[in-house]
Amino acid sequence: MAHDRLEELRKELDKLNLDILDAITKRATIVQEIGKVKAKQGIDKFDPIREKKMLDELVAKNNGPFDDNTVRYLFKQIFKASLELQQNDQKKVLLVSRKEHTEDTVVKVGGEEVGNGHNMMIAGPCSVESEEQVREVAKSLKRMGVPFLRGGAFKPRTSPYDFQGLGEKGLKILRKVADEFGLKIVSEIVSPEHVSFATDYVDVIQIGARNMQNFELLKRVGTVSTPVLLKRGMSATIEEFMFAAEYIVSQGNRQVMLCERGIRTYEKATRNTLDISAVPILKQETHLPVIVDITHSTGRRDILLPIAKSALAAGADGIMVEVHPEPAVALSDAKQQINIPQFEQLTQALYDSGLLHMPTK
Ligand code: PEP
Ligand code: MN
Repeated sequence: MAHDRLEELRKELDKLNLDILDAITKRATIVQEIGKVKAKQGIDKFDPIREKKMLDELVAKNNGPFDDNTVRYLFKQIFKASLELQQNDQKKVLLVSRKEHTEDTVVKVGGEEVGNGHNMMIAGPCSVESEEQVREVAKSLKRMGVPFLRGGAFKPRTSPYDFQGLGEKGLKILRKVADEFGLKIVSEIVSPEHVSFATDYVDVIQIGARNMQNFELLKRVGTVSTPVLLKRGMSATIEEFMFAAEYIVSQGNRQVMLCERGIRTYEKATRNTLDISAVPILKQETHLPVIVDITHSTGRRDILLPIAKSALAAGADGIMVEVHPEPAVALSDAKQQINIPQFEQLTQALYDSGLLHMPTK
């Protein structure tokens, strides 16, 4: 008799469990709908006032046997799971997210590939100053097997009185010299109007830290097929960085590399603080290649080797370094650029460490 009663109660419980599951599933569907509405309106997902009101109303209706704290605790768990559901849904919609696209994006630059597991280096002067200056650096890159030549022709300088770059003439110099040595060019542009002519010269468009949230520029480079190296803004969170990349990718250009270049902190020993954690986080959260700029992040020459090693050990697909034939007379970033022997020594040490992959060709 007692056994029959137990069975009966258990059956009732099983049915209630299914009813609860049904109710929380229905609730979750509504929560997802709310998430979409909030995303459209740009409203924060977490609303503590609304949450408190819901909990208070539930507790007011509670007649036991659970005490009020237990009711609060149980519903809090449901609310927490719902919030996570909304947050996951939002992440999932990002095209740059690994959730949407699990395989690594390999950026193809002519015959070169970035993000295929074979890491690489980008090197060159802060600014293009003359053909001879660029040629001296290019020669060294060729000698060391470094395939990407960088150099700024449009310089976003802090002071309007500082050297602003050679403009289109600088891009012409880069193209000419790069073609002599079979190198690929990475160069920054600062305005959407530059895109139409820059694509005639450069292999990779760089968007600098100061323009990471120049949304018109991001959208414009998203409409071309030239690969883009997007640098992290100096005060940008990783999430903002990913959204900036999303601006490009959402316009159709999926050939995007992310560049961690240090962020502003109170620390004065380095020019910026290299956020090394950003490397594995970006690799985990996105499918895009990640490059670390060891020069602008540190602003100093004496720690480049350990910093480059740590970047590569953390999973970076490449590193960027500024090299000038005569850094002391450089028209920009004179204090941080390394000279050609220092560059060759650094590159050789990285090859010897096994962390930087030797060129295959
Ligand atoms: C650069 O790479 O030339 C440069 C200006 O760097 P950032 O935008 O990171 O300051
Ligand atoms: Mn520089």
